[in-house]
Amino acid sequence: MIGISSIGAVSNLFTSEKSGIKMPVIFAGHGSPMNAVEDNEFTKKWFEIGNSIPKPKAILSVSAHWLTNGTYATFAEKPKTIYDFYGFPEILFQQKYDAPGSIELATSLQNQITSPKILKDLDWGLDHGTWSVLIKMFPQADIPVVQLSISGKESEQFHFDLGKKLQFLRERGVLIFCSGNIVHNLRRIKWEGGTYDWAVEFDEKVKSLIDKRDFNSLINWQSLGSSTELSIPTNDHYLPLMYALGASDKDSKIDYFAEKVIMGSLSMRGLVIN
Ligand code: ZN
Repeated sequence: MIGISSIGAVSNLFTSEKSGIKMPVIFAGHGSPMNAVEDNEFTKKWFEIGNSIPKPKAILSVSAHWLTNGTYATFAEKPKTIYDFYGFPEILFQQKYDAPGSIELATSLQNQITSPKILKDLDWGLDHGTWSVLIKMFPQADIPVVQLSISGKESEQFHFDLGKKLQFLRERGVLIFCSGNIVHNLRRIKWEGGTYDWAVEFDEKVKSLIDKRDFNSLINWQSLGSSTELSIPTNDHYLPLMYALGASDKDSKIDYFAEKVIMGSLSMRGLVIN
């Protein structure tokens, strides 16, 4: 009995109690992991955004870099910083993002969402899709972070619908943070800089569909014309956007930041959904 009632009390933090403020939802184009150690126009913006919103009680992060079979939430009390990249300077491997986890938040996800079943993960930590941005957005690393994995075999509609089911968190002081890139084609990277027309075209098309709240077309992005195939060669970096849009509501105000395509084929565009 003691066990059951104490679990109930713990999960109440994110299930029963409304905080009185509706938290925004953020989608960030994370780009290169080097942003974690650079001071550039994108990282400055991430810092500004972190300062401009109410301090979250916790962060739920959906990163392009955690694809699984099934949907998992991290239950680690102290999630480790994951260096899921190679060939970068040593300084990047020396970074640590020491935010605590939140078993309470992970448990409340399991309690509130019955379909899909949210599975318990004890192995993952914070991958660079999460920490390379949060280290700039919330450098104090004092806000608990839980990651939610992306079930790789599911459709865009599934991910959008799951984003909808996360909406309850916004009234419980939780920031839903989604990290990917709207245009992400590493095979076409231009190290010398510049952009491809198809990349800019697709990035702007996505913006105009978001402005029209035409989420259905964004869910069915394969029908968006010739610029799509090169812009989304694989959909892992696009899927976090589905969660962000799903977690919006019909009256949401959507603002953009870092509206830029860099290195030819990487869109850094971000969204703050209020
Ligand atoms: Zn990435």
